[in-house]
Amino acid sequence: MKVLVINCGSSSLKYQLIDSETEKPLASGLCERIGIDGRLVHKPIAKGLDKVTIEAEMKTHETAIKMVLDALTHKEHGVIENLDEIKAVGHRVVHGGEKFASSVIISEEVIEAIESCNELAPLHNPANLIGIRACQAALPNVPMVAVFDTAFHQTMPEKAFLYGLPLEYYEKYKIRRYGFHGTSHSFVSQELAKAAGLDIKNSKLIVCHLGNGSSISAVLNGKSIDTSMGFTPLAGVLMGTRSGDIDPAIIEYIMKKEQKDIDATMKLLNKDSGVYGLSRNISSDFRDLDQAYREGNKAADNAVQTFCYQVAKYVGAYVAALNGVDAIAFTAGVGENDGRVRELVMAQLSYLGITIDKEANKTRGEEKMISTKDSKIKVYIIPTNEELAIARETVELI
Ligand code: AMP
Repeated sequence: MKVLVINCGSSSLKYQLIDSETEKPLASGLCERIGIDGRLVHKPIAKGLDKVTIEAEMKTHETAIKMVLDALTHKEHGVIENLDEIKAVGHRVVHGGEKFASSVIISEEVIEAIESCNELAPLHNPANLIGIRACQAALPNVPMVAVFDTAFHQTMPEKAFLYGLPLEYYEKYKIRRYGFHGTSHSFVSQELAKAAGLDIKNSKLIVCHLGNGSSISAVLNGKSIDTSMGFTPLAGVLMGTRSGDIDPAIIEYIMKKEQKDIDATMKLLNKDSGVYGLSRNISSDFRDLDQAYREGNKAADNAVQTFCYQVAKYVGAYVAALNGVDAIAFTAGVGENDGRVRELVMAQLSYLGITIDKEANKTRGEEKMISTKDSKIKVYIIPTNEELAIARETVELI
């Protein structure tokens, strides 16, 4: 079955057409600058052709979807004969609040329920809904499924998701830990169990999703029991440009000292902090930081060391939450590619009996055991594949 996977942002739209039997993408692409001018980069993977870039006015997401469908059925760079071949669409939706603990087939009621979560993800959910509406208009008879970033973490117990605030704030406003990257944590924990030869229903796993945004999760018997992101994706370890956990009183202090209002302060925490801010704005990209470190830049090294230290501390906390651990996975852009980050994190975990296989740790972007054979805990690189995870969920539901 051919499944179209859509990840819609406010001015961009990523897509993949996946063959669910082979689990391989037939085509992928990205619409950028929707509402500004418009550019579609389309990769016809099944045809083995190079990327094509189509520049055309893209005033709305409806136009963007139409262009994607035209590209998929195009005579030269298309990968299907006609749109009837698309049997289902899977949509990434960022926030499902407490309403969605799993993926759902999209109906009018589901759309209303997603809308009611907009307040919790004001930048993302409205854009996701625009993508859903645009696809419904273009493919009216095709079943659609919503796959939520928060759903996998809905199994967290109260003691893990409650904050130390008056309980009424949870009851009135639903202020609690939600956690994000759930599709990735779910996919990677399943792949990790397979790779390590474990029965997922009887396993203690820790997944380190380290990318531009980073989160760590503790997965007990296949279910998330804790995760480092919180009410928003600003919490947890420091990230590319996000601060991660800080003492909340720092916010008031910065506002007074720098005469910043709350919007400017939140921008500081979201866009100007993390390894970017800590490296004195060298970069949020770990490749640039590594280069700067090799050239002797102390601030770049500090930023990466601080990041790795915080990741290792979360892993330690989750060993406590799980009361043990069988296997650990590194995934996403940094986790899959940055051997030095993995080595620094693992060095901090030697007390668990983890020993690193330095040769194996040179691997990039593919599944690999990077602990030695006699390491007490197995550590793996497990490439994440959120699009495939969404396609799998979509097929299962329809
Ligand atoms: P993601 O958010 O998962 O797409 O990860 C993006 C981040 O992964 C980039 O900002 C880089 O910091 C990092 N990254 C990608 N490729 C590499 C690489 N070869 N070595 C180190 N870091 C990388």
